[in-house]
Amino acid sequence: MTEANQNCDSTQSVHAGEVRHKPYHTLIDPLVPTATYVFDDFADIQHFISDQNNKIPSERLDYGRYGNPTIRAVEQRLAALENGQAALLTASGMAAMTLTMLTFLQQGDHIILTDDCYRRTRDFSRQFLKKFGVQSSVVAINDFDTLEKSIRPNTRMIISETPTNPYLRVLDVERIAHIARKHAIKTLIDSTFATPFNLRPLDYGIDLVVHSGTKYLGGHHDLLSGVVIGSAADLESIRDISCTLGPIADPFSAYLLLRGLKTLALRVRHQNESALAVAHFLEQQPEIEQVFYPGLTSHPDHAIAKAQMKGFGGVISFTMRANLEQTGHFIDLLKIPYISPSLGGAESLVNQPALMSYSSISAEERAAIGIQDNLVRLALGLEDSTDMIADLQQALAGWQR
Ligand code: PLP
Repeated sequence: MTEANQNCDSTQSVHAGEVRHKPYHTLIDPLVPTATYVFDDFADIQHFISDQNNKIPSERLDYGRYGNPTIRAVEQRLAALENGQAALLTASGMAAMTLTMLTFLQQGDHIILTDDCYRRTRDFSRQFLKKFGVQSSVVAINDFDTLEKSIRPNTRMIISETPTNPYLRVLDVERIAHIARKHAIKTLIDSTFATPFNLRPLDYGIDLVVHSGTKYLGGHHDLLSGVVIGSAADLESIRDISCTLGPIADPFSAYLLLRGLKTLALRVRHQNESALAVAHFLEQQPEIEQVFYPGLTSHPDHAIAKAQMKGFGGVISFTMRANLEQTGHFIDLLKIPYISPSLGGAESLVNQPALMSYSSISAEERAAIGIQDNLVRLALGLEDSTDMIADLQQALAGWQR
C-alpha cells in the first residue's frame, strides 16, 4: 500500500461532491419524493428546452424518470468518491451492470468476462446477451496471456470484478486497463467488494466502475441500489438508455444511501481491520482447511492487493474439513452473524454458497465453477473482531463433525 494510494477518506465520505447551499438552508440534502415537476408557463418550458438543446447544466428537471435532486446529490458524491466525472444511480447493482452492458453492446459483439464473478452477471453475459447475438468468453482472472489471446476484432468490453465472490481474487486493474486500452476495448469493473475506500479502479485507467450500493455503500442492509461511474461522455450514453429502459433508483433509497455514505470510510476501515484479524485467527484453526482472504500472505493475489488496495475488504471465505451438512451445522452454532446472502452492512452475515447463491444448479455444475460444499463466506459487519473471534471459537469448540 503506497502513500500515493489516497482513496476516499472520512472527509470525502461526508463532503465529496456536495452542494453546500441547499434549498431552505438545510444542512442535509432533502428527500424529494416527486414523480414529476411543474412549469410556470410557456416561457418556462421554452427556457428549459433551450437549455437542454444547448447542453447548459441546469437544476431544472421535468420528469421523475429523467432525474431527481436527492438522486443527483448521491450521484455527485459517488462520482467524487470514485474520482469519476459522472455517475448514475440505479434500482440495484444488477440494474447498473445490465444497463451499462446494454448501452455499449450490440448484435455481433464479443465480450470477455473473468471467472469467479457474480453469478447473475455471468448468467446475463452468457445466456441473456447470447439471445441478442452477443458472444462471450470466460477467462481466469489475472491470466493475461489467455485474456489477450481471447481478444477478437469484435471484442467490445472486458468485464471483471474485484475482489471476486466467493474466492476474493484480486484483479490487477492496472494491467487489465493497459491491455484493453491497447485494443480500444472498454473495461467495466464491479468494485462492490472493494468499495472506493479500498480501491479506485478509474485511477488505474479502467473506464467504468459498477457497485451494488446495496452492500458497503448503503452499509445498513436497508436498501437496494446500484451505481455506474465513469467519464461524462460514457455516463451521458448510459443515462440516455436508462431514460428508455427505466431501471431508476427511488428517492428514498437514494436518501438512505447518502446518509450511509457519510460513514463509509469509518465502516470500511473497521471492516478491513476485523476481517484481517478474523482471517489470521481462522488460518490457525485445525478444523479449517483453507482461508481465502487477500490480506493473508497465503492468498494468490496478496502482492497485487497490497500494491493496489488501501485495505483488503470485509469478506472472508474458508473451507472446512467437513461435508455439506457438517459445514451447515458449524454455521448454525454461530451466535453473532445472521445466516444471509448479502454483505457490507452493520450486522455480520454468514452463508454457505453451495446452499444459498448456487442452490439452483447441480453439484456437478457447482464443482465446475469451484463452489465447494464445505465453503463458508463470512461478511464482517461492525461488531468487534474480538467478539467475532470468540463466537467462532465457541462454535468450533461445540462443533461435532
Ligand atoms: N455484484 C456483486 C459483486 C454482488 O455481490 C451483487 C449482489 O450480491 C451484485 C453485483 C448485485 O447487486 P444487487 O443485489 O444490488 O442487484
